[in-house]
Amino acid sequence: MIMFNNVSMQYSETNEVALNKVNFLVEKGEFVFIIGASGAGKSTITHLITREIQPTEGTILINGKDTSTIKRRQIPYFRRNIGMVFQDFRLLESKTVYENVAFALEITGTSSKQIRRIVPNVLGMVGLSAKANVMPNQLSGGEMQRVALARAMANDPGLLIADEPTGNLDPTNAEEIMKILLDINKHGTTILVVTHDVNTVNRMKQRVIEIQNGIIVRDEQEGSYVCMEEGVE
Ligand code: ADP
Ligand code: MG
Repeated sequence: MIMFNNVSMQYSETNEVALNKVNFLVEKGEFVFIIGASGAGKSTITHLITREIQPTEGTILINGKDTSTIKRRQIPYFRRNIGMVFQDFRLLESKTVYENVAFALEITGTSSKQIRRIVPNVLGMVGLSAKANVMPNQLSGGEMQRVALARAMANDPGLLIADEPTGNLDPTNAEEIMKILLDINKHGTTILVVTHDVNTVNRMKQRVIEIQNGIIVRDEQEGSYVCMEEGVE
């Protein structure tokens, strides 16, 4: 569960108001797109959720917990429940596919026995069982992103955030990534996808939150338009 209550974010370095009184609730198990032009405030939302930054105003609850109350030493544990995928994949180039996924488990203190069980499992989930021993530079972009997805899912997070996951992919590979995200969602993981790939968003018929200049201008549930101004006057 993610809840933003009147959240504003003004960056102190630039005085830029990236978010202005943003409110939304994402229930456990939802699939949500966050869309909007470059600079609208999408990544700021993801950084607030992962507690990389704290809002200048308002509160953020993750699974009922106010993130401002999380102590510095608790942050790594808090983040274990959030898988992240980025546009640029961020794989470790000197490690094989298998080792990239295993590494995510090693840093959370998972036993070798568990790692040997989990890695083949998540690589199977993204259709890369046959590429376990390949180096990242021998993979296509779509395959690299699938490794990143497997790695993000290795610790079985309740929430997966993908910030422009298809930004570097052709339409076929983008579609494949979206299929895998839907599949992961079917198994109960909450999914937040930041994108400006409008075609994908329209085709997938999932909830869409649109942000413009730091303000939510649309929160549309599976195609039925919900006007945010409703009932305000
Ligand atoms: P998006 O992901 O939608 O492109 P961002 O959330 O990254 O947008 O940025 C929203 C606004 O906040 C932009 O005007 C951007 O320049 C500004 N911004 C983002 N990160 C920082 C930062 N670390 N310091 C100062 N300003 C920032
Ligand atoms: Mg961004």
